[in-house]
Amino acid sequence: MTTATSSRGLNFAVLRPYLARRKGLFALALAVIVAGVGLQLWIPLLLKDFIDGSLAGADVGRLAAIAVIYLSAGLVAQVLSVAAAYLGTSIGWSVANELRLDAARHVASLDLDYHSGISPGSLIERVDGDVDAVAKMFSQFAVQVVSATLLLGGIFVLTFLEHVVAGWTVVAFTAVLAGAMYLLRAVAVSATSAERGSSAELFGFIEERLSAIEDIRANGAGRFVMRRFQPVMRRYYQRSVGAWIRRSIIWTTSIGLFSAGTLVALAVGSWLVLRGSVTLGVAFLLITYMAKLEDPVMEVTDQMQEVQKAAAGLGRLGELFAEQPTVPRRGERRLPSGPLKVQFDHVDFTYGAEPVLTDITFELAAGRHLGLLGRTGSGKSTIAKLISRFYDASGGRICLGDVPIVEVAEPSLRSRVAVITQDVQLFEGTVKDNVTMFAGGVPDRAIVAALEEIGMGIWLDGLTEGIDTRLDSGTTSLSSGEAQLVALARAYLLDPGIVILDEPSSRIDPATEAVLAAALDRLLRNRTAVIIAHRLETVGRVDELLILDGGSVIEHGSRDELMANPDSAFGGLLQATREGMLYEEVDL
Ligand code: ATP
Ligand code: MG
Repeated sequence: MTTATSSRGLNFAVLRPYLARRKGLFALALAVIVAGVGLQLWIPLLLKDFIDGSLAGADVGRLAAIAVIYLSAGLVAQVLSVAAAYLGTSIGWSVANELRLDAARHVASLDLDYHSGISPGSLIERVDGDVDAVAKMFSQFAVQVVSATLLLGGIFVLTFLEHVVAGWTVVAFTAVLAGAMYLLRAVAVSATSAERGSSAELFGFIEERLSAIEDIRANGAGRFVMRRFQPVMRRYYQRSVGAWIRRSIIWTTSIGLFSAGTLVALAVGSWLVLRGSVTLGVAFLLITYMAKLEDPVMEVTDQMQEVQKAAAGLGRLGELFAEQPTVPRRGERRLPSGPLKVQFDHVDFTYGAEPVLTDITFELAAGRHLGLLGRTGSGKSTIAKLISRFYDASGGRICLGDVPIVEVAEPSLRSRVAVITQDVQLFEGTVKDNVTMFAGGVPDRAIVAALEEIGMGIWLDGLTEGIDTRLDSGTTSLSSGEAQLVALARAYLLDPGIVILDEPSSRIDPATEAVLAAALDRLLRNRTAVIIAHRLETVGRVDELLILDGGSVIEHGSRDELMANPDSAFGGLLQATREGMLYEEVDL
């Protein structure tokens, strides 16, 4: 898992395209901010005129006019600050939504290889948590930083215009403040980044354990899991406290500095007035401006952790976007219609360093059914994954219907090759959604026909709302046999040229088994099939057998021939079975 890696600096490259699309909104936000800051700077000047005017004995009408302008300017400044916050928020959220969508799309496009190496929890943290932090940075921080910079610049210029000592006082105070904040911030960044990493780890842990709850219960591993949970929680707790302490140091230091600033302004102001260098109004102006520094700088330091989160988040999003699928999707050829021939030509494959398949060569004629047998870990599922192109072979060539698989366009491949995996996933949705995989435009008739064809007609009749009955996610609401049947119906609806079936290795009761067998017969009629078989009954229906051992083909031939030959590996297995051993115990 990648945690607190690139937290240095904001990785703005990720954001550039999203920002470029909103130039107009940015210009508007900037205009509102500039107007608001202008007013904020002008208001104390009005106060100065009022004080000096009243001391100099100006007429009441003029003073009243200043007061009215003062009040109206205050009101307009408020409206402008609300408008700036609104614009910042809407820019932030629209950027975040686009970013989230793109990140989700990108994650979905990555290979299974990537997904098997990262927990869903940390991906959620990235697509949701990190994007959220970025949105906050826009909605709050960007507006405040721009206003604060303008306000500071304005205060410098205006105080210098009044008196050079007042100007230097403000500049020196800001420099001390900024220096202190800069040093403290560096301390907090890495701590915050580590905190985010720990929270990702915690989410990943919870997600993984919850999705495996059945296995955990069945194995009585609950206490063990809870024990493992504790160090993860402890790490998160410790890192959170560490990060919080560092952030509070920033906060307390800034409060102390501001109190000192007010004292300095009072002292310098009084001294200048007593020397007769400035009027009382100017001294008041200095104190007001000094106090004005407080709000933006406090808000900015308060937001510092958001920026740190956003910086870390942007860094991680950059890494995520840099991940590329290793299976290129450039093919443009379409697979022919009807059953498809499968050819493996000296195919090698490795997941990492260890070779999993070596020199696999076989040909399966169109419409023939192949049973894949072999010990657990011998590479059966891997062959299935290569035919469905979840991975690309490291060597050799695979052709479907005489078209090299690397040249086939993705949509054509997905509609011509149906895969039924060992454990079928159901989705939160209706029976219809689960059979069509949420594809719209499939007529209800076709869905009912597919379910009936697959032998689920009676089951369907028993449902109160027919194909619009809702199913829960996971496999809780259907038995694993029924879930398999739903998967067969999915494949049936697709009308594929090849069906790949990774048979569930768990035992299914004989009645369901018979329904499944009949459904399978109908699905496989006039289609090529590769069946990873765990049961003798299944093997009984195939035309050919291919036996794998340690990633190599040790036997391939017609089932009848292999069965008749007692010297074949399969013949040996059959013999052992006949002698009273259970098929499974032979460990195919
Ligand atoms: P089973 O009968 O248990 O389903 P199988 O014959 O289907 O076994 P495969 O899943 O093809 O076996 O695995 C073949 C080898 O590849 C195994 O040694 C396994 O550890 C390894 N392997 C499988 N998937 C991955 C992966 N994603 N990353 C790395 N190695 C893997
Ligand atoms: Mg397998």
